[in-house]
Amino acid sequence: MIESLFARIDSKREELVSFTQELVRIPTINPPGEDYLLCAELLGNRLAKSGFSMLYERANNTPGDTERYPRHNVIARIEGKHSGPCVHFNGHLDVVVTGSGWTVDPFEGLVRDGKIYGRGTCDMKGGLASAVIAMEAILEESIDFPGAIEISGTVDEETGGYGGVAFLAEKGFFSKPRVDHVIIPEPLNVDRVCLGHRGAWWAEVETFGRIAHGSMPFLGDSAIRHMSAFLELIESRLFPALDKRQTRMPVVPEGARRSTLNLQAVHGGETESFEGLPSPCVPDSCRLIMDRRFLIEEDITEVKAEVTNLLDELADSRPNFRYQIRDIMEFLPTMTNADAPVVQAVSSAIQSILGKTPEHVISPGTYDQKHIARIGHLHDCIAYGPGILDLAHQPDEYIVIDDMVTAAKVMAASTLELLGVNL
Ligand SMILES: [Zn+2]
Repeated sequence: MIESLFARIDSKREELVSFTQELVRIPTINPPGEDYLLCAELLGNRLAKSGFSMLYERANNTPGDTERYPRHNVIARIEGKHSGPCVHFNGHLDVVVTGSGWTVDPFEGLVRDGKIYGRGTCDMKGGLASAVIAMEAILEESIDFPGAIEISGTVDEETGGYGGVAFLAEKGFFSKPRVDHVIIPEPLNVDRVCLGHRGAWWAEVETFGRIAHGSMPFLGDSAIRHMSAFLELIESRLFPALDKRQTRMPVVPEGARRSTLNLQAVHGGETESFEGLPSPCVPDSCRLIMDRRFLIEEDITEVKAEVTNLLDELADSRPNFRYQIRDIMEFLPTMTNADAPVVQAVSSAIQSILGKTPEHVISPGTYDQKHIARIGHLHDCIAYGPGILDLAHQPDEYIVIDDMVTAAKVMAASTLELLGVNL
């Protein structure tokens, strides 16, 4: 039976390529969240032909949801012959901006040298297409399975997932008894299983000063100088401390196997978009956006305290130092146990199909697994997909077609294993 299933997947290679191209040709750029409904319907209409029933869920009033940019998600489900567990594949439909440096049309879906090029091929429309082809192959082979199979296409992963997986998780779409096992085909490479991700805390720090004439700065108080005092402490104290903090999480690439901080933006004084010539003023406000990634060994309260302690130190020691700190968003680290059923099933499928023991890894950045763990309380969840991690968000992003076919086989075999179908 398994040979016949794999032969079926091989025979669907051209379909896999063309469906990926169709998905890529809908430029679901987020922000702002273009063409979500079109893309959700493309996925839904295709799965309807295989007998899936569809639910479309618009995430009203979530960040970014407007009449011009509505947040539409689709959940497809097909029931087996008798009751049993449910295996769910979740893919995000949104892609990031193209940026510069492309040598091909980012939304054409060009096929060259065994690869499909375009924004979202790797992250993660190619992985989603692999899951679709894998499930279609199971249905076309008329394999009797218990339980249910679900495939969802969700929005806004690139901006936190509030209108996508978080919204659906709040409504029970990612909890038992509806769902038991979740595979997210994010691009973590065809031969690896991703158990989870580090945590993230985004915050904005603002320092204050007093405006005065720029020719007599001593009469004012520069918010930018106060911010640079804070940045000096970050350089001399925080960065070295973070560097030393190693984790037992198997994060890839290895450089991310410790705590990190990205100073994402600094704005002070004249706005960047001013017209004409700058005006001679002492800046009375300076804002810094911080993106702090933390480890499973770290507590979020301590992560925050480490930053506010430095600010309080300056407030005590530096004349007129005043600040405000505002949380922007925070996500806790998550790591599925290596002996969880979904990890075991996907690992053994990789072992038998690729002939190698898969590496278990952790993603440096977060993805929608955080919502499934925290809101859905479902901990049998991983990311597994065919894309090459380093290509995500890059110019000339591509996906290797052979990898998509292999991943589809791994997905099909692990689904049957998780549903308890004897192969
Ligand atoms: Zn992604």
